[in-house]
Parts: sequence; structure tokens; C-alpha cells
Amino acid sequence: MTKRIAMYFLGGTISMSSDDGAGVRPTLGADDLIAAVPGLDAADVDLTGETIAREQSGSLTPAHLLEVLQRASASDADGFVLVQGTDTLEESAYLLDLLWDDGRAFAVTGAMRNPTMAGADGAANMLAAIRVAASDAARGLGVVAVFADEIHAARSVTKGDTSSLTTFVSPDCGPIGRVLEAHTHLFHRPARLPALPRPDAVDAEVPVLTVALGQSPRALDAVSAGADALVIAGLGAGHVPGWWAESVGHIAARIPVIMTSRTFSGPALVETYGAVGAEVDLQRRGVVMGGYLRATQVRLLVMTMLATGASRESIAAEVRRRGGYR
Ligand code: ASP
Repeated sequence: MTKRIAMYFLGGTISMSSDDGAGVRPTLGADDLIAAVPGLDAADVDLTGETIAREQSGSLTPAHLLEVLQRASASDADGFVLVQGTDTLEESAYLLDLLWDDGRAFAVTGAMRNPTMAGADGAANMLAAIRVAASDAARGLGVVAVFADEIHAARSVTKGDTSSLTTFVSPDCGPIGRVLEAHTHLFHRPARLPALPRPDAVDAEVPVLTVALGQSPRALDAVSAGADALVIAGLGAGHVPGWWAESVGHIAARIPVIMTSRTFSGPALVETYGAVGAEVDLQRRGVVMGGYLRATQVRLLVMTMLATGASRESIAAEVRRRGGYR
């Protein structure tokens, strides 16, 4: 049976061109991009496309994603594809996944090579994403990133390379499936947590601070002033220098402070290291450990919960639950 797929376009490399030699910028919209996808007739889909924005993805905000969600929820399509830039694609997928309370398939994709380049990957990525969105296998999966014929869960995917065509990886667990010979193959179905209440806006002030060797705590005070919560991308298993610990404790007495790791994979630990500034000490000072969540994911989770008035205790519990560690 022909599947109806609604596509939303926000810009990104996939839509970029240049007529003045001064670097590519988003110019193309839904119609141009859909027209450039070969093999759609054989895919047996009925496509609609809406251009919501033409932005580099670094200029997107949660408001763009809330708009996408609202349109998708109001649509009677069978599945959905969001097309956007890759720089923040993992965050879009994660935020959408937190709020997508629907069993219909939802794929996010983009491109690493713009349409003026040899071997541009946009059309192939769109076709694969359309196939996933149209598949029965992807129903109930939540939001997935589809890139280079791989399917990644929103909760695990990250951009791993500035320019490779296979930039998207899931360092902790690998892809959950592939698109092969026009079919969606799932290796496993990740357990899905219920969607969060959907807020009208996701705009709390929740900065992310990355820790580096020998760094003074001055940045901590600057970054946390006026913040609603603070996310730290800590050293190793979730650590800060010993001389940060007291300041971190003072901030945690005022606002939620969540510790993640600046490393590429693996969880923030909870009970191994006991030095001042390590996880045992930090938790005693009120810091919540973020498990397998990356700093950027925790930020969106906390912003979303703050927007619906969640208590500090429920935010901590949800970070631990979605962090999936302990
Ligand atoms: N800078 C681009 C963007 O995120 C990169 C891309 O789309 O691949 O919009």
C-alpha cells in the first residue's frame, strides 16, 4: 500500500549552493530537494514537503523543532522525515525523540556534501530516510537518524567527524539497523521511554561547560550566573579539578548541576572515584551524574523539563533514568 510521508526541511548543507564563490549557504527548499531524489517512483510513497527554514543548523533553535513536531502531530501522514544540517542533527533527533508521543516512524537526515560537489550524498540519504519512514519496522521506534544507509537511535547517535560521509555513529552501541536493497533492516529495537509532556517553548538557560586540564574555576562562576541549570562535560568518568569542587557544590545548592563526560563514549560513573572533584565527592555536593547521556542531550532534557515546571527531584530522576546507567 502506498505510504504517505511528510517531509520537513530546515536547511543545512544538503540545501546549500553558492553563486558568488564566497562559500555555500542554504538556498534550496523542499521542492528542489525532493525533485533531485532518484528512485522515488519505485519507492511507492506519496510525498509532501514543507520548507520551514533555510538555516545552517547552528542557527536552528528548539522553536524550529517544536514547529516540526506540531506539524507532524497534526498531519495524517504515515511517517515523517526531517531534513536539516548535520552540525546539530543529533540534538534535533534527541529533542524530537523526547517529545514524540506517537508510534509513527520519524527519521532525521541531511548531507555532508552539498549538491554542487561530486558524489553529493543528500539524495541517497533522503531516499533511505523516506524508506525508513515508510517501513513497518520503524513504527514505534521513536525518532531515528538515517545517514549513509545506517539507522541510529536518537538517544545514541552523534556526529563523529567534521567531514566524512559516515560521520554519524553510535559509539556506545552501534547502529540499530541498515537500509539495504530498499528494505529497512533492524538489528535490535531499543527500549523506548515514554515521551515527556510537550512544552510551548524550550528556552531555559542551561549552559554546557567543558572542563580542561588545569582550568581555573572562573568560567564556572561566569557560566552559571543567571543560569537555570548547569551541565558540565567533565574529565573522564565525570570529574572536575579538585579546586572546582567547592564552587560546584555552591552552584548545585542553587540550581541543578548535571555531570557528563567530555569523552566520546561510555557513561559518567557513580561510585568508583572518591578524590575531591570526582563522582563520589561531587554527588555528595548535590551533583547528578548523567550516565550515558552526552552533555548536549542532558541540556535539552533539562530545558524541556524546566519548561513544564518539573521539580528538581523529578529532573534528577529523569536524568538518571534516561542516562541508563544506574
Ligand atoms: N554546517 C552545516 C549545517 O549544519 C553542516 C551540514 O549540514 O552538514 O547546516
